[in-house]
Order: sequence, then structure tokens, then C-alpha cells
Amino acid sequence: MATLDPELKSTACNLCFVNCGVKVKLGGEDGREFVKVVGDKDHPTSAGYICNKAARLDFYQNSKARLTSPMKRMPNGEYEAIDWDTALQEIADKLSAIKTKHGGDKIFYYGGGGQGNHLGGAYGASLRSALGVRYKASAISQEKTGLAWVFSRMIGGMVHAELHHAEVAMFVGKNPFMSNGMDQARTFLRKISKDPKRKLIVMDPRRTETADYADIHLAVKPGRDAWCLSGIIAHIVQSNKLPMQWLEQHASQYQTVIDTFQNISVDDFANFSGIAPAQLKEAADVIADAETFALEEDIGIQMAPHSTLVSYLNFLVALLTGNYGKPGTMGMTTQLVEVLATDFRPVDDDGREISRRTLPVTGAPIISGLFPGNFLAEEILNEDERRPRALIVESSNPIHSLSNAKELRKAFRSLEFTLAIDVAMTETAMYCDYVLPASSQYEKWEATFFPRNFPANIFHLREPLLSPAENTMGEPEIHARIIENMNTFEPGELDSLHTAAKLGIDAYQAELFAQMGSNKKVAKMLSYVLYRTLGPTLAKGQEATAAVWGLAQVYVLKNATEAARAGFSGPSAGNDLFRAIVDSPTAVVIGESSYEESFSRIPHPDNKLQMLIRELLDEVETLKDLTPLIDTSEKFPFSLVAGVRRAYTANCNIRDPQWAKGKALTALMMHPEDAEKLQLHEGDRVVVETETGRAEVDLGFDDRNKLGTISIPNGQGMVFFDDQQKEVDTGVYANELTSAQHRDKFAGTPFHKFVPAKVSLGNL
Ligand code: SF4
Repeated sequence: MATLDPELKSTACNLCFVNCGVKVKLGGEDGREFVKVVGDKDHPTSAGYICNKAARLDFYQNSKARLTSPMKRMPNGEYEAIDWDTALQEIADKLSAIKTKHGGDKIFYYGGGGQGNHLGGAYGASLRSALGVRYKASAISQEKTGLAWVFSRMIGGMVHAELHHAEVAMFVGKNPFMSNGMDQARTFLRKISKDPKRKLIVMDPRRTETADYADIHLAVKPGRDAWCLSGIIAHIVQSNKLPMQWLEQHASQYQTVIDTFQNISVDDFANFSGIAPAQLKEAADVIADAETFALEEDIGIQMAPHSTLVSYLNFLVALLTGNYGKPGTMGMTTQLVEVLATDFRPVDDDGREISRRTLPVTGAPIISGLFPGNFLAEEILNEDERRPRALIVESSNPIHSLSNAKELRKAFRSLEFTLAIDVAMTETAMYCDYVLPASSQYEKWEATFFPRNFPANIFHLREPLLSPAENTMGEPEIHARIIENMNTFEPGELDSLHTAAKLGIDAYQAELFAQMGSNKKVAKMLSYVLYRTLGPTLAKGQEATAAVWGLAQVYVLKNATEAARAGFSGPSAGNDLFRAIVDSPTAVVIGESSYEESFSRIPHPDNKLQMLIRELLDEVETLKDLTPLIDTSEKFPFSLVAGVRRAYTANCNIRDPQWAKGKALTALMMHPEDAEKLQLHEGDRVVVETETGRAEVDLGFDDRNKLGTISIPNGQGMVFFDDQQKEVDTGVYANELTSAQHRDKFAGTPFHKFVPAKVSLGNL
């Protein structure tokens, strides 16, 4: 690992969940600058593709906001630098005291990995076990748990849409031209738009940059997607275009679903959703007549009214038309690490889920092991004995990303103990008792694996490009040392594993299985045990990859056929897979699925798609009232999209607004005709107000916006200081404006894409 190596080094972009493979050239005065970033042609899925954002990765790696010392909050609210040993011992003591006094279940955990920063999360699991933590959330449970619930109920696993090979592709609430969120997004858009045999349908209120490539743009009214999709399904059903033989063979309880859509007025639903009935029917016919169809949704609907219902409707469109388990449709993949664990629970005879884990105070639903972050402040700010008393935040910024930041700040300061582990002093870290500076994603072994590619899926273990910045520490070591400072294991308790590890992998494997059988702590804190016992025997600096060895063993056991197709079979399959992952500079294909397995993996006795989700079908019935779930009003006449992706917005890994230099990205965008009615001009300083808060912002014009809608970009309003230590205006902090109360009935996810708002000229 040389810091002055002029060669291009393989790693991945961490600015969206696609995590394209990139090659970085280091340079500059200290050899630590990213002077060149190019696509990695050897990467199995991105294959050299990158978007405009990757070139700016140096703004993440060499940010002025990097933390260089553990920090402790003093009684006056100021932070003081302290040494690592003191910080880790005090943190261990305080967490142990809370566990003793209130129980480990009163310690909540948020995060476990920012985008591209996931290996630390594996070790966080051991710390959670050591503490007895029961409740965990992450940014993903702010968006995708409704979808996970639908996947789990209907299919029983995570699926991938084979958009690149579909005759007809559809995006719902997704603008991949700007936000990516699929491999090779712009290449895909160019190809499909040029192919006369293929069609693209885009459903989005805004004429997005993706819609420019579409054959059909369904410019639905904000918050009315459920009516548009129900109308599409109803038209297909009523036109007798369903593949009944395929449904009989592959689906169960579909007739109940069909009956519901027989009784829907397609024209009424189309009109109510703002779509001309003829256009809605044209889209429905295109889907029903296609040989293959694949659909992807994103946070445009996952953080909007009826979000879980809309996910269900999206999958009904695909599955009722037979688009599953064949090329160019949807297929179930296997993963080394499940991004969103399948969470199938038994249902009653009527098709309703019988029970679900919930948060103790608010009763918020826990889906795929995650509670909705949207309930966090409410769960904390009460006098109930069962409320949380401490919170660990790792590589996440909930005070910035969850609704109603003001309430969250109050909630954080009301807790007995709070800890943030991050590379920077984030908006969340600023309200925590201790802040520990993590090494950056490019200074330690890291993993990317989010896209659920199908049939071949990948895992990318990334070697560090640089040595850790001074006085920073990788999360695996942070977790290990807190566990040790709590005296979790007796002295000598892991000696037999240390000895076995020195004898070789076979001896280690045998001893590990024996220990897991006899010592519950070993099984419960497996990642920690691997890190401390196997880790030191791996090549120097590779200790943190020990957890991947464990994951590889489990993967080949659970997915022997898929792993064998990728070349990993026999008694050494797990070790071979691990070696391949560690030795490859780019991502590795870990397994290949077949289309038949998309059915055989469905965890129901009949291996059939479960079309009935009774709770959601009941919701379809309520749509017949033609009443929006949430609406604008005289007081708040606009629907605000609180967080859209623009050319230079990404996740919040980059804090320095200069990364988008020269680009006006922070403005509130309004259709010029709306502005004219309010006598507002482009560049005016305006106040945007919602029931939760107010903010001042520059006004920009966007004639792609639907009339009556306004938008602000995601990821703005972060605290950042320039070279003169002067705070920089970084735009509107969207969650000063959003409400935690406007949330999905099933998953608790918030409606950030529909916030009733007003805009007026002036200053706060
Ligand atoms: S932002 Fe996303 S699509 Fe763009 S280069 Fe990075 S990972 Fe790839």
C-alpha cells in the first residue's frame, strides 16, 4: 500500500448505491489527493461506466471536515479533543452502566455503514450483541422497508429487475439520469430510446431528464401514483390480457386480486391521477403486450403517500403480467450480505400478517430487523419506562436525514448517552456525547455489494488506497476495543482459536465450529471473534477482512449451486471464494442464479408467487373514494419535494459544497408560471414554509416541474467552514421542513416527496 504510487488503483465510487468500479490516481503534494478518477473496465457490472460525480471523490477523501481526534462533549456544549484510550474506556464504562441500570434493549443503534462503507457494520453487530441491543435502524429504513415488506410477502426474497434486457422498461418515482440507482444508467437510457423494438415508460410528476428518453411519460399528480398504477392494472385485467395459464402455474391467490381490479373504473382512476385515460390505457397495453417487462421504483414513491401500497401495485403490474423468472423480467438473486433481509411472517386464512415485532413505546413496525427512523424522536421523547436511554450512531447522520431535525436534536440531548462514529463532525455528531473519528472508506478495507445483480451477483472488497489519516481508526478496531473494555470475554477464553488459527484454516474452521457449539458468546459475537483470532493470521493489514471469510463460508453453504456456477465448489469452496474476493482488485462474481431458481427459492410450500396481501388490497378498495391521502391547502398551496437529486447532489458522503463548483444546485425550483402568479423572479430570496418549519433560499425556475410543485435538493444545509473558518451557506436543510407525522401506514416511512408548503418573498 504505497501512498505515492502513480498507478491507477482499483476501488469503487461511494456516491450512490450502484458503487461503480473506479480506478484512482493518487498525487498532489503528499500523494494523498485523488488527481484522476476513471471507470474500471474490469468491474463485472459497471464495466468502465461512471457518471459525472465520481470525478469529485477527492472532496470526500480530503475534506476539510475530516475529524482528527476523538471528541468529548463538555457540560457547556463545547467539544474537547481526548485521546483514544480514554475515549474508548469512558464509552465502554458508560454503555456498561446503562446496560446494567436499564437493560441493553434501552441502547438503540442507528446506521452501520454509509454508502460504500459497510464492513464496519459487520463488526458493529458484535458490539450490539455484547450490549444486548435489540433495536436498530438505518437510512434504508427511511425509504425501503415498505418495499422489503412487499418483497417478503409476495416473493420471499430480494429481486433484481433486468432492465437492460427488457422489451419494455418502466421507472416509477425514479430519475436514473440524475440519481443513477441502476448500473450504467445513461448508457441504458440511450440504448432503449434508440431501439425501435423497445419502449420506456416513466411515471413521475416532473418531466425528468429520464422522461426525455421515454416513449410514454405518465406525469401523474403528486401523491396520486396509487390511482395511476391501479388504473393500469384494472385496464389490463378488464381487457382480459392476463396470462392465466402462467398465473395458474406460478401464482397463488391471484383471483382475489383480479376480482378487486375488475371493479375499478379505469377512467375515474386515470382522471383522478391526472393522466388522460387514453394515455394510461396505452401504457397498460404496452406493458401487457410486451414479451418481457421490468420495472424499478425508487424514493420518488418510497417516500411519498401510499408508499408501501405503491410498491405492491408496482409488483402486481409486473407479476400479474407474467414478468418474473425469465430473461428481461425480474429474478431472485443471492447475496453475500443481505442488504434488506427477507422478513416473511405467517399470514392468517384471510391473507393478513398475524404478528410483527414493534418498537416498545410507539409500536412502530420493525421490518427486516429495522425500525423506521421516522419514529426515533417520538420513541425517545416520553416518560415511558421502556424508552431508549442511549444511542450509538455509526456512519450515519440521522439528525440530517430524518424528518423534523428540531425534535431529533431535542431527543438526542435528552438521552443519557450518545456516541457517533464518523469521518466528520456531522449534524448528528454535534449532538452526541462522544464522537470517534473513523478512517475514510479509502483508508481501510471496505466492501460494496448493494446492487442485487441477476443472474450473476457480485461482491467488491476494496483494498485501502491510502494509510489511515492521522489519529483515525477503522470501525472494526473501534468496536473490538469497546467490547474488550467491557470485559466481554474472560482472559484466555479465545486462546484455543488463536492457536488453531496459527495451525491453518482447516484447524481453525474445526475449532471455530466447536467453539460456536459450546460458547454462545462466540456465536453471538462472531465478527469480533473472527477479527481478533483469524484476522492476525491474514496478510498484514487484512485483519478487517476476517468477517468476509465468515460470510463466504455461509454463502457457499446456503447457495452451493449458485456458487459452483461461479467456480466455487467442493470442500474448499468458502475459502476459495474468500481468496478470490480478497485477491481481486475489482468486484468478483460470487454466484450465478438460474431463472428456474427464482421460483424454487420462493419460501412457500408451493413455490408460487403470493399475489394477495390482504392489508394492501383493502387499501386499493379505499382508493375508490378518490380522496388523496395528503393534499395541499389554501395555507400551503404547493407540494414540496424535500430532497431531489440534481447533477451535483449525491448521498451525504461529500460535505464540501465546492464539489459542485459553478453549478447552481441549492435553489428552490418552481415552475416559472407559478412564480409569475406570485410575482416572484428567478434569483429572488424567498421563504419556504411548512407546518414544521421555515427556511430561506434562492429561487430558481424549472419548467420541467409540474405546476403547483416545488423542490429543494437533497443533502444540503450541512455545516461547513471555509479556509478562513467562516461558515458557508450550504442551502436548505430539508428536514427543518419535514414532518415525522406524515408517514406510511405500514412501514412508517415519511412523505418527504409531498410536503405541503408555501413560498413568499422575503427573509426570515
Ligand atoms: S455516483 Fe453512482 S453512478 Fe455515478 S459513478 Fe458513483 S456509483 Fe457510479
